[in-house]
Amino acid sequence: MIDFAAVGTPQQALIRLNIIPRDQHCISRKNISDGALKVMSRLRSSGHQAYLVGGAVRDLLLGGHPKDFDIATDATPEAVTELFRNSRIIGRRFRIVHVRFGREIIEVTTFRGHHDSGDSGSHQPETGGNHSRQSASGLLLRDNVYGTLEEDAARRDLTVNALYYDSGKFEVYDHVHGLQDLNERSVCIIGDPEQRYTEDPVRMLRVVRFAAKLDFSINAQTAAAIPRCAPLLSEIPAARLFDEFLKLFLSGYAAATLEKLLEYDLLCYLFPDTSHFIQEDEKALALVRAAMANTDQRIAQDKPVTPAFILAALLWPVVSDHYNRLEEQGESPIPAMHTAGQIAIQDTVNHMSIPRRFSQPMREIWEFQLRLQRRTGRKAAELIEHRRFRAAYDFLLLREQAGEETGDLGQWWTDLQELSPEQRLEKVATSRDGRKRSGRTRKRRPNATT
Ligand code: ATP
Ligand code: MG
Repeated sequence: MIDFAAVGTPQQALIRLNIIPRDQHCISRKNISDGALKVMSRLRSSGHQAYLVGGAVRDLLLGGHPKDFDIATDATPEAVTELFRNSRIIGRRFRIVHVRFGREIIEVTTFRGHHDSGDSGSHQPETGGNHSRQSASGLLLRDNVYGTLEEDAARRDLTVNALYYDSGKFEVYDHVHGLQDLNERSVCIIGDPEQRYTEDPVRMLRVVRFAAKLDFSINAQTAAAIPRCAPLLSEIPAARLFDEFLKLFLSGYAAATLEKLLEYDLLCYLFPDTSHFIQEDEKALALVRAAMANTDQRIAQDKPVTPAFILAALLWPVVSDHYNRLEEQGESPIPAMHTAGQIAIQDTVNHMSIPRRFSQPMREIWEFQLRLQRRTGRKAAELIEHRRFRAAYDFLLLREQAGEETGDLGQWWTDLQELSPEQRLEKVATSRDGRKRSGRTRKRRPNATT
């Protein structure tokens, strides 16, 4: 038992270690990856402590299959890399070691200590340097102060994420009532919520993400501090916010996460303009909801998903608004869509980065929406072969699903895809009113067949 105040969590007076023996929990080594077991075993045989921690223990206790295995140890990152040839240190703000086994990466984290406590057992790596930095507002800019297992538990985000499994003794260690919260299906931040959100505002996003993913309720105090601390999210570096965006919307629970972000008024820190439009326009909300449901379904079916598509949907209400305005000002459709996309992306990357490999396909999806309006001429038939057609067509269906009026365009493209290349050319040679087009296009390129 150690003094909780000493590890910077004033909400609870004490941290009490609860050891759950082998016969009182359902974790079996069979469900832990060989890589993770190997890392823990080698660390232990080298005289270190090593535990499975975080999402893996939580998900195993809930009877699920963890998507990855994180390990906590008292070995410094340098000591870990010396033990594993296939490893490297990553991160600056928070240094961790990645140990690679084929395609699997095991994340090994050195126990974190409290950055202010000089005498609570924290130790520093021999390499020296500045290990912890905090901004004037309390934001932790660097968190590389190492500590003990108890301190590490107290520095984690949620009680259900702070359970440790010892694969040598088969025991689960719980310092922060994590098991109780797991049983009560409650997401609860460790320590004083306001202090923990101030240190790292991303924890607010993690609270709603795990509540959505696990279908847990949010503890009253954990929830109550969110409105007060939410504005701190604007201090998060753009690249980190993008990483968090990926976890929020591409982990298979995007639909539920969106509802929670809306409930806690947090979407506006990721997509301020979208958040504004979906409060005013039911169709904009329907589109974003449909995109989320669609993404979750694809993930559940093991189909590939790309951030470009979901971002294209999230920003479509904004792009449409700019587009309509530019058209009203006399801009012709293609340049109007181009500029609208550019503005929407520029406004977003000011606070959340979007790598070019995603922003480029997003713009193509938007610009393709105009090309899909064209139902005649061989160019229309050729669009089906375009590498961006599939995404643009799916996007069109999404817009229709959300109630956008397109003149049954989606069905037209669905039908066209079912035809042979020759039949397609025949169909696009017929105008919408059923009359054959003058043969000009065909005469100019008589040999083309697709
Ligand atoms: P999943 O991988 O299933 O999304 P996870 O709980 O493993 O969930 P990770 O993002 O992999 O989440 O983080 C691993 C662990 O690191 C967490 O369980 C938590 O204990 C700790 N952690 C992660 N981010 C933070 C944070 N911002 N503040 C405090 N602790 C954190
Ligand atoms: Mg994890």
